[in-house]
Amino acid sequence: MRILFSYLNDLFAVLRRWLSALLGIVFPRCCTVCRCVLGGDNETYLCADCLRELPRTRFHRRRDNPMRKSVESGAPVVKAAAFYYYSAESPYAELVRQLKYQGEQWLGIALGKLIAAELSADSDFFMGIDLVVPVPLHPIRKRRRGYNQSECLAKGLSERLNVPMERDAVIRVRNTETQTSKTREQRFINMLDAFRVSQPARLAGKHILLVDDVWTTGSTVNACMRALRSVERISITVLTLACARRD
Ligand SMILES: [Zn+2]
Repeated sequence: MRILFSYLNDLFAVLRRWLSALLGIVFPRCCTVCRCVLGGDNETYLCADCLRELPRTRFHRRRDNPMRKSVESGAPVVKAAAFYYYSAESPYAELVRQLKYQGEQWLGIALGKLIAAELSADSDFFMGIDLVVPVPLHPIRKRRRGYNQSECLAKGLSERLNVPMERDAVIRVRNTETQTSKTREQRFINMLDAFRVSQPARLAGKHILLVDDVWTTGSTVNACMRALRSVERISITVLTLACARRD
């Protein structure tokens, strides 16, 4: 019987490999950024060239980086960083577009894992983190999109860092309409009291990694920080996938 199981196992493994190779011929995997066909075993969503040329901010190596300086003063912030520079004209904007608007939740998880691996390889950026907390979407918006893209990133980070994720401790109580056409002041007013900490006890005394997708003016993260400020003995490290490049 054991021999039969072992034989079937081997057979299924061979069939899986054939099927995967066949699917690869019919639907070749393409690089999210340049659309070239991916070939290498380690190329799952980015080709080696696009991965190498990704415009990284390397903010995690500088405690006084521009993002850290823009995080709301008075909040107990330990560190802040964004992984790469975002610009709507850059082909790398496709990563954000696919994650936010094309339903590619797996991409968020993969990027979360990539960020965790890269930032921990050459810094102590994640040192002391107790919990990963995604910036929440309003329930109506989450229902419409089907998922929260920041939660996908947080999931990848949590898995790779082996730190638990807490998804419901902070909730979004105001359904702020899209911010893109607003000025910095309008965004600030629009975001006032947008968040509430629903379960402060779960965050008390913890060092949390607050995760968002794109840092533009910082109004979303800063509004979230204002809500988190009330939690006893909390400390916060902020991390986003991307930040808008201000050339
Ligand atoms: Zn590419």
